[in-house]
Amino acid sequence: MKTRPAICNRKKRFATREEAEEAAARAPFTLRAYKCSLCHRFHLTSRTKGMKLPVHELDRPE
Ligand SMILES: [Zn+2]
Repeated sequence: MKTRPAICNRKKRFATREEAEEAAARAPFTLRAYKCSLCHRFHLTSRTKGMKLPVHELDRPE
C-alpha cells in the first residue's frame, strides 16, 4: 500500500503485525493492519474497501 509521509507521521506505529492486529481487535470498528513502506512498521487503517472479507464472517442460514 502506498503511504504518504504525512499520513505515516500522524499514524500510530506498531512494531509487529500481532501488536497492530491486537489493537485493531479492540477498536469498535473494523481496522486492518498493514505494513508501511516508509517506516517499515505497522499502521492501522479503517479503509477496508476493496479488501476481501472471509465468507464465514457473513451471516449464514442455520
Ligand atoms: Zn509508516
